[in-house]
Amino acid sequence: MFEKILIANRGEIALRVQRACRAMGIKTVIVYSEADSEAKYVKLADESVCIGPAPVPQSYLNIPAIISAAEVTDAEAIHPGYGFLSENADFAERVEKSGFVFIGPRPETIRLMGDKVSAKNAMKAAGVPCVPGSDGALPEDIDAIKTVVREIGYPVIIKAAGGGGGRGMRVVHTEAALPNAVIMTRNEAQAAFGNPVVYAEKYLENPRHIEFQLLVDEQGNAVHLGERDCSLQRRHQKILEEAPAPGISEALRNKIGERCAEACRQIRYRGVGTFEFLFEKNEFYFIEMNTRLQVEHPVTEAVTGIDLVQAQINVAAGGALPIKQKDVVIKGHAIECRINAEDAYKLTPSAGRITQYHAPGGPGVRVDTHAYHNYMVPPFYDSMIGKIITYGDTREQAIARMRIALSETVVQGIKTNIPLHLDLLTDATFLNGQFSIHYLEQKLALHNQQTD
Ligand code: ADP
Repeated sequence: MFEKILIANRGEIALRVQRACRAMGIKTVIVYSEADSEAKYVKLADESVCIGPAPVPQSYLNIPAIISAAEVTDAEAIHPGYGFLSENADFAERVEKSGFVFIGPRPETIRLMGDKVSAKNAMKAAGVPCVPGSDGALPEDIDAIKTVVREIGYPVIIKAAGGGGGRGMRVVHTEAALPNAVIMTRNEAQAAFGNPVVYAEKYLENPRHIEFQLLVDEQGNAVHLGERDCSLQRRHQKILEEAPAPGISEALRNKIGERCAEACRQIRYRGVGTFEFLFEKNEFYFIEMNTRLQVEHPVTEAVTGIDLVQAQINVAAGGALPIKQKDVVIKGHAIECRINAEDAYKLTPSAGRITQYHAPGGPGVRVDTHAYHNYMVPPFYDSMIGKIITYGDTREQAIARMRIALSETVVQGIKTNIPLHLDLLTDATFLNGQFSIHYLEQKLALHNQQTD
């Protein structure tokens, strides 16, 4: 096992990874920007290194500064968290070439899955069901594009192969709108991702977002840890997640989960990974794979009893999985609410000092946050300041516990989205589990119409 791990991230996930390391008796090195020098995980770290000023390109994306921090502190491995450099194949390669272990998949796997066209091809070959679409990149010739799209059937979504973060996508309803949409998406893709390749897939009108958690070791053992429903999104960003997904039978879970596990064996995956699917009319359609730990990993931890970060570190150190698929038991239900520093309905960010802070507690309540009384939420980074996770024997119990937990939570001095979560937790559509990826946006639009 490693003696010392460098954590190349910030906020709640830096603290989460640090807690896993401390539980395993591993020393931690924290790298931080000038804006995060007061963070509690910096104070709790065995060593800490300031890697630059607040703006992300100069600190959390500053590869040379992070590698030198690992060198001067003699760290053996680097944990990238999520976001920032976590899915950057060049970073993973630099880490390994500099003699450190990258806590994540091989650089070539990150590269394969980072290109959505090659990822879909690899998944199809492994028997994972995908959204029907152009097999690979769209051709140059416009008539050839029209033929391809006619075969898929309108509406379609034109997507950038190199896209991410909900950008580089355009829905097309008619052939008349197609040429322009392809050109605009190509131009955007070139500008934003440096890769003009676009592809087309069937646009699903009312799907749910359901994703599978996988855990794989270097010895080729792959297990799935069931699924999460992450349909409640605004601006393509998740805000409330749960496990298991309402209404998914054990037979269907095992069938899709096993396909994902087989795909991991075929691409020689290692570590934790997530297969994202759209789910419509009882069918799963793969859209992309995330080759890292996810924000919403705690709901899976709650229903399986497996510590995903410790498992990830164990695999990175060369350890074999201590479990087989038959040992994985999904028990009870868990919900996660992401607490964002923002106006609950207008979504405008709200940085600043937290003047009053009180965390919830009680049976089945977990709080993952780096925030505390008097903490200054910096304006430079993502608006998420923490996550509350509740667990219960049933979905109803997890929801009831979440309502109480949120009503106990006090965060003053900044705005948070807690009012929106409380609203969702009494919403009939949420309670009956019948919501698609569009539901939250529709609810927000309705609310804003009524209050404007
Ligand atoms: P990103 O990497 O930018 O997150 P994804 O491929 O994961 O892109 O898609 C992001 C979101 O866009 C999905 O969660 C879904 O809401 C929507 N989307 C993507 N593909 C389709 C599709 N074929 N049909 C309907 N919605 C889609």
